[in-house]
Amino acid sequence: MEPVRARLLRQLPSVNELLRTPQLQTALSGLSRPFATEVIRQTLGRARQEILATPADRLPMQWDREAFLHTVAEALEAARRPALKRVINATGVVIHTNLGRSPLSETAQAAILEAARSYSNLEYDLEQGMRGSRQALLEELLTELTGAEAALVVNNNAAAVMLALNTLAAGREVIISRGQLVEIGGSFRMPEIMAVSGAILKEVGTTNKTYLRDYEQAITSNTALLLKVHPSNFRILGFTREVSLADLVALGRRYGLPVMEDLGSGCLVDLSRFGLEKEPTVQDTVAAGPDLVTFSGDKLLGGPQAGVILGRREVVERLKNNPQMRALRPDKLTLAGLEATLRLYLEEPRAVAQLPTLAMITRPLAEVERQAKRLARKIKQTFAGRFQVDIRESIARVGGGALPQEPLPSRALALTLPPLAAHQLEARLRRSSPPVIARVEHDTLLLDVRTLLPHDQPALLAALQGILNSI
Ligand SMILES: *Cc1c(COP(=O)(O)O)cnc(C)c1O
Repeated sequence: MEPVRARLLRQLPSVNELLRTPQLQTALSGLSRPFATEVIRQTLGRARQEILATPADRLPMQWDREAFLHTVAEALEAARRPALKRVINATGVVIHTNLGRSPLSETAQAAILEAARSYSNLEYDLEQGMRGSRQALLEELLTELTGAEAALVVNNNAAAVMLALNTLAAGREVIISRGQLVEIGGSFRMPEIMAVSGAILKEVGTTNKTYLRDYEQAITSNTALLLKVHPSNFRILGFTREVSLADLVALGRRYGLPVMEDLGSGCLVDLSRFGLEKEPTVQDTVAAGPDLVTFSGDKLLGGPQAGVILGRREVVERLKNNPQMRALRPDKLTLAGLEATLRLYLEEPRAVAQLPTLAMITRPLAEVERQAKRLARKIKQTFAGRFQVDIRESIARVGGGALPQEPLPSRALALTLPPLAAHQLEARLRRSSPPVIARVEHDTLLLDVRTLLPHDQPALLAALQGILNSI
């Protein structure tokens, strides 16, 4: 080994020396010794690797002790911060599965806090003074809002579909159109969910066209269910044909077979009133008369992660009594957040105004434009022109498998900070505190303002300040 490399390695302090270093005592306070030891060991490991990997002519002559102590202090601080943290979504994708889908309304936040800090009547019937059912709490509200006979809440929509298939069709056949064998978000693939539920997949039709007679010809004595799945994140365009839910329901009736629709996003508000593409609402779907309808709580509904199952009482009761239910049941925080979310829909304008997901999707472009101008001005004022900002037209998306083709006209701030390239600025923003998730298009960093929440602005400015401080 070259002498300079060996010397630098020798100069690295030991873990014990670092644990005793006065400059690190603040960063160390409150951390257990084994935990701090592990963080320091890893930081030393990275420093050693860097010395070993750097070409000899680029190695420093002397080891920079101050810089290294700073790195250790930062690693200790970072280890103290929670792994799951708030981020600023400047991507323009409203229901972003990787970023936690729907932010919750203030009433849902308050309900979750209340359920978290006290005991509750989660499974206690306050009238009778005896054990109650957690499922009874939301059932009336859900049936009132949707027109369904009965309702059930589980962990997420994947769980809802799995529970339904297992209950109604384990060991028997489920007929589904080839055009609806979808994969959603990388982990929900209809054939795989079908397999774990124990149901047997029976595909009919072709990728682009499926007729009612395709379903009918596939019915045998081993058929248990006719299933329709919302294609969510893709569209087959052009020469296409799918069977309507109403026709499938009529076919099911004729053969005495249950019919189910996995709606995916599940929206309670007719978004075409806001100039968006017409999607069937949950109410329309229930009215078409299927035995079961399932959808997510955290997509267009705007609530916490949950799976909502609606349907005929007798069928929903069978699902409730499936022993798998015990493993799929929602927790009290979810139920609290979901109930508060649903209550807003009792008065639709409140839902649209107060649920962040719906508010962002329905916000008029003129308002997005004003918001972009205000933020651009604020950034220029705060940083005395060090960031260059201008306003660009942008296309935001609903996301979460809803209205996938639907562009949401939006505005973005194109941000530059010479000499950083767009991808370098993107990485700095992503590693900021709080992280800011932006888009890079044609070598330009874009912050879409449609997905910024009202309380994001101060945090965004703090992140930008942090970047200026570090360059
Ligand atoms: C999103 C989606 C799912 C999965 O829902 P989760 O709540 O994420 O489990 C299932 N089916 C369809 C059609 C979807 O769009």
